[in-house]
Amino acid sequence: MERIAVLTSGGDSPGMNACIRATVRRALGRGLSVLGAKKGYEGLIDDEFTAMSSSDVSNIIQRGGTILHTARSPRFLEAEGRARAAENLRNRSVDGLVVIGGDGSFRGASDLFNEHSIPVVGVPATIDNDIWGSDLTIGYDTAVNTALEAVDKIRDTAAAHDRLFIIEVMGRSAGFIALEVGIGTGAEAVLIPETRTDLQAVCDKIQGRIRRGRTSNILIVAEGDEAGNAFEIAAKIFDLSGLKSRVTVLGHVQRGGSPTTADRVLASKLGWAAVEALMDGAWPCMVGEVDNTVVRHPLADSWTNRKALDPLLLTLSDNL
Ligand code: ADP
Repeated sequence: MERIAVLTSGGDSPGMNACIRATVRRALGRGLSVLGAKKGYEGLIDDEFTAMSSSDVSNIIQRGGTILHTARSPRFLEAEGRARAAENLRNRSVDGLVVIGGDGSFRGASDLFNEHSIPVVGVPATIDNDIWGSDLTIGYDTAVNTALEAVDKIRDTAAAHDRLFIIEVMGRSAGFIALEVGIGTGAEAVLIPETRTDLQAVCDKIQGRIRRGRTSNILIVAEGDEAGNAFEIAAKIFDLSGLKSRVTVLGHVQRGGSPTTADRVLASKLGWAAVEALMDGAWPCMVGEVDNTVVRHPLADSWTNRKALDPLLLTLSDNL
């Protein structure tokens, strides 16, 4: 192996830059040359590559976003797009590809290996933490802390005005962000896709609290919850109980910002590990961290398995 390429794909997450840096520096350290593909799989298809030196990744470990940019690539969903991507990689003598992204990106990488024998290694980076095979994904810790800070601020105004706030957080079809933010902010209720949502029970709980003189109430809703989005839930709660609420959708603020130490360190470990996996011929695989140990899994395991929520966190959320 003499040359590898690295790209970031799908939704961005804080820590992607730290991962690019580690991948580039480890590869250079192992005597490889490195190309960065721009805008995820779009860059592979359009032959948009840039040579990456050690100084190209200086001063980026603390920055959110991704210097390589990211994109969703409908063309890569077609066999023709993937064939062109493989051809460009071959023309540029790329022997291996590191894909930093979520499970969609991993599926694409897997197709590239199955159809064109391109050695691929996936690094899990998404704020949603919804990838099996790594206890945490790059960006999750930062997103949770960003959301937590925002909810703390909303708690102040909720308490000042005796209000019920319904706050929607990201997470796609998983409730990891909502659950931890809910516990961390002492939210009165947390609605997540993994558990059945009983809005009548939520209303009863809040009305009980109001009767006991507790006038600030925070409800955290994961964007994928079955009861609907935060505005729909607010309307349903009003219909069920007459309770009025204010809605805040935290949205993309959760994607940005400087990564936490935990995310920078995880990204550094996994960027390093991705290069090692390529050099060891362990592809196609994803690298992750389980119980504080860096591990490799077959790439497809990342989406054929569903990552479970910690049952203790559910208990804490329901009972504290
Ligand atoms: P994420 O990687 O964050 O889950 P997406 O699901 O949007 O983000 O996937 C990123 C890109 O990966 C898509 O735009 C597409 O190009 C590619 N991709 C996603 N799913 C597949 C698939 N099933 N087969 C091939 N490529 C895919």
